[in-house]
Amino acid sequence: MGTGHNYHGFPMEILQLTTTPFYFYDLDVLRTTLAEIRRLTADGPYSVHYAVKANGNPRIISEIAQAGLGADLVSGHEIEAALAAGIPASEMTYSGVGKTDWEIRTGISHDIGCFNVESVPELEVINAIAGEMDATARVAIRVNPDIDAHTHKYITTGTADNKFGIPLESLQQVIGMAMSMPNIHLSGLHFHIGSQITQMQPYEMLCDTINGILDQYEDQGIQFEIINVGGGLGIDYDNPDAHPLPDLERYFGTFKQRLHLREGQRLHFELGRAIVGGCGSLICRVLYVKENRGKRFVIVDAGMNDLLRPALYGAHHQLQNLTSTSSDIETYDVVGPVCESSDVFAHGCQLPVTRRGDLIAIRSAGAYGESMASTYNMRSLPAGIFHSSIDK
Ligand SMILES: *Cc1c(COP(=O)(O)O)cnc(C)c1O
Repeated sequence: MGTGHNYHGFPMEILQLTTTPFYFYDLDVLRTTLAEIRRLTADGPYSVHYAVKANGNPRIISEIAQAGLGADLVSGHEIEAALAAGIPASEMTYSGVGKTDWEIRTGISHDIGCFNVESVPELEVINAIAGEMDATARVAIRVNPDIDAHTHKYITTGTADNKFGIPLESLQQVIGMAMSMPNIHLSGLHFHIGSQITQMQPYEMLCDTINGILDQYEDQGIQFEIINVGGGLGIDYDNPDAHPLPDLERYFGTFKQRLHLREGQRLHFELGRAIVGGCGSLICRVLYVKENRGKRFVIVDAGMNDLLRPALYGAHHQLQNLTSTSSDIETYDVVGPVCESSDVFAHGCQLPVTRRGDLIAIRSAGAYGESMASTYNMRSLPAGIFHSSIDK
């Protein structure tokens, strides 16, 4: 792949002329992923809401809107962006532990499908604001099922000691409160146990927990219209060419087999990373190659402000030198220009002999890449460019 005249079908000459660093999106990969999701969710009462925080690029959201997916939002501006991209408000859910009054009002004024509510005070505020607006807000209560998704501690969200959701032991009381509030309609229950989950076991445990909850409330005569199992399906960061798509078949299959939906119930999924992670790369240019005490450093023109995941989570992305023609392999630390020791994309990375001017692709950067970019150090925000084999 190192010496090709194109990258994912995109002419190298154009990549060479584009100001680096920039995000490169392969729309063929995105569309294949979306088609696969549609295929796997066509045979039941399933809805998939794309978690816009993974990548809010308008072009990406509009591709996803065209594929007929809904949206999971975490801010008022994300609600506006999803509306602008053509996602119907009825297909939106609004999540997050800290919704402001303006954001709640924005959601209610568009009559979004559902608020995922994370606390009693939030429920009270939504009820009060909906009352002022003479409206009814549909809510799902986010339950913290105390399941460890065995992922990085900052992306585990379903254990008892983190800030998300309502603990199982308080659920009964909160359901009672929601049902008694005049401007709240209780639609269902919401769960989201973490991110970058590649084993199905945490999802199986989630299904078992949900089955138990549904049995318990059915005995009390309480039915939920919606069960929302959140997102979190991981992608293969180590082998992006072998696995450009996540294991969607196993993921949806786990819920289809193990979760016992009741009559009339809908199952909602909120995938972010799994939809967009594989379609994007961050393309950057080598500024300098330097040697310190026998260690070789490749200094590129992308930094932690362009792609934060390695600095924030110790995340690993595969690197690829797109322009080197050398057949000799060297070991490098690949680092950015920002004055922080965590501004490192790879330690001890094997690359063909790399020189100033080479283009490097940082792979699998479509999720939580561009959307987390900042102007730290007064650097420019990276642009996003798109390629597909069919539209020209
Ligand atoms: C972030 C988030 C998601 C999406 O997570 P991924 O790991 O990108 O699939 C889904 N639901 C909620 C509530 C979230 O906060």
